[in-house]
Amino acid sequence: MSRPIRAMMIGAHPDDCDFRCGGLALKYARAGHIVKFLSMVDGGGGHHEMKRHEIAARRKKETEAVAKFAGISYDVWDIPDCELVADLETRKRLVRAVREFAPDVMFCSRPNDYHADHRNSSILVQDASYLLIVPNFCEDVPPLKKVPVILHFYDHFQSPPFKPDILIDIEDVIEDKFRMLDCHVSQVYEWLPYTRGELHKVPKDPEERFEWLHEPRLPRNRELIDEDLILKNHIGKQSEYREAVPAFKYRHKLIERYGKRGESILFAEAFSVSEYGAPLTKEMEEKLFPF
Ligand SMILES: [Zn+2]
Repeated sequence: MSRPIRAMMIGAHPDDCDFRCGGLALKYARAGHIVKFLSMVDGGGGHHEMKRHEIAARRKKETEAVAKFAGISYDVWDIPDCELVADLETRKRLVRAVREFAPDVMFCSRPNDYHADHRNSSILVQDASYLLIVPNFCEDVPPLKKVPVILHFYDHFQSPPFKPDILIDIEDVIEDKFRMLDCHVSQVYEWLPYTRGELHKVPKDPEERFEWLHEPRLPRNRELIDEDLILKNHIGKQSEYREAVPAFKYRHKLIERYGKRGESILFAEAFSVSEYGAPLTKEMEEKLFPF
C-alpha cells in the first residue's frame, strides 16, 4: 500500500489487544503504519485491593504508557468493566468510532469466549460491521465506502475451535511485546497473579519481575524444545512458552507463509478471518500483512 495501513484493534479491556495482537501492532507501527487500540470498558473491575474508580484511572495511565512505548493510539471508553452490553447505544458509539478512524483492517475477539465482555465486544463489532457503510445510520458521521477486513484474535476455546487463517511471525518484536505487557503493572504483576494464587511469587524489583513475566523462557536452540510442554501452556501465567503456542500449534501455516523459515519460527500471532468483514483475498492479504 502506498499510503499507511490503518489498523484498528478492538478489545473489551485495557490489555486485551496487547496480549492478543501486541506483536502485530508493534510491527505495523514500526513500519510506519497507523494503529489504534480501543478498550471498550474502563478496566475498573480488575483488582483485588483497589476501588473501581482508582483502578480504572490507573489502567488508563497504563494504556498511555503502552501507547507511548509502541507508537500507537490507545482509546479507553468509560463503560464500566464487566458491564459491556451489545446494545444499540454501544453499537452506534462503535460505528462512529470506527468511521472516524476509517480502518483498512480491524481485529477483535471471537464471539466464543469465557468473558461476557469479550463476547459482547465481538458481537458489537459484528453488529457494527455492515452498518459502517449504511448512510442513514448514525448520519452525523459519514459512512465508510467499504467494510474493512475483520480478523479475530487467537484463543484456545474449542466450541468451535479457532481457524488459523493467518500466522504472523513476531520473533523480531517479542521482547517489546513483553515490554508492552510490562506496562500493565496492575494486571500482569498484581491482579492476574492474584487470581492464580501466585501473588507471592512476583518479584518486587522491576527488572526481576520483567524476567519473571517471561518465565519459563523458551530455549533458543530448537533441539532443546519440548513441543508438548509448549502446547500445555495455552492458558495460565504469561510466559515465553505461552507466547510460543500459536507457532507450534499451527506450524503448517507458518511454513505456508514463510517457506523454510517458517519451520523454525518460535513466536507468532494467529488470526482468523471474520466472514462479516471484507473478503481477505490473496491480493488484500499481501497489502495488509506486508511482513
Ligand atoms: Zn479481557
